[in-house]
Amino acid sequence: MAGQTQTRHEDSLRKRFVLIGDPVAHSWSPKIFNEAFRALGMEASYEARKVPPDALSGCLDLIREGEFAGANVTIPHKQRVAKHVDSLSGDAAVVGAVNTIVVEAQNRLRGENTDIAGFLKPLREAEGKVAQHDVLILGSGGVARAAAYALLRDHLHKRLFIAARTPEKAEAIRSDFSFHDGNDCIQPVEWSERTEKLSSVGLIVNATPLGMWPHTHESPLPDEAPIASHHIVYDLVYNPNQTRLLKQAQNASARIITGFEMLLNQAAAAFKLWTGREMPADIVRSSLSP
Ligand code: NAP
Repeated sequence: MAGQTQTRHEDSLRKRFVLIGDPVAHSWSPKIFNEAFRALGMEASYEARKVPPDALSGCLDLIREGEFAGANVTIPHKQRVAKHVDSLSGDAAVVGAVNTIVVEAQNRLRGENTDIAGFLKPLREAEGKVAQHDVLILGSGGVARAAAYALLRDHLHKRLFIAARTPEKAEAIRSDFSFHDGNDCIQPVEWSERTEKLSSVGLIVNATPLGMWPHTHESPLPDEAPIASHHIVYDLVYNPNQTRLLKQAQNASARIITGFEMLLNQAAAAFKLWTGREMPADIVRSSLSP
């Protein structure tokens, strides 16, 4: 079994990897992976492929046939792919979303979710000894689910407030993760009441696209929101690197974590699954950091 795994890793050194989604033109993943392959002298390449929903199963067939040695999955396919792969990691099964496909023996496809590790690693580094505090997640879409699950799984919070424009989605996160939530610590919050929660939380996570290029003037929090120096503000938007929300946080002397750090760390986790090697994250960061 160990020999089989080694063979796949060696094969992957000469192979192609792909990001499937729609749209994909904006993605930074090809730059991240190709820089990592270059830095390690690996004969491998990574490309982004625009795959509309009706072409998804054909694309998965290509992966099964050996055209690609592994894949990342992005909007709008993360949930649908979970139903098409042959097996799921425990985390991907609970979150119900796949962002990484690993090709196993007999060309079986295993769905993984490296967004969870990618979200947690920069948070642990920023917090040092992880503090147990209340958290406010802004948004209730795909990445909000992954972030909420990561915090629940590793018991990194006391209460978890989820402020959602569509309250049913925050309710769905609460009910889907209820088996991790014995103390009923997930609390949906009306979008209009999000700033009222700031005084009681230590960590603020933006899981909406507010502030993303080209709408860089937007922020999920108003200018007068009481962000303070005890807050950690983690903006999952990565384009631009310095979002309006992060500027608000810096003006309040709060600690910040950029979405680029999550992006880099979820890519590093996928890289390890595909190749068995550590991504040279510092080299990639310094060559790509805006
Ligand atoms: P998604 O599934 O479409 O969810 C977006 C969430 O934002 C939904 O809850 C949506 O509310 C809410 N929202 C959108 N516009 C809003 C507005 N004007 N006011 C209030 N709420 C609003 O998207 P996603 O995949 O979770 O991605 C969200 C962001 O995270 C994107 O910017 C994406 O690029 C980023 N992201 C970053 C990483 C990383 O590695 N750094 C990874 C994944 C995603 P409704 O449900 O009501 O529409």
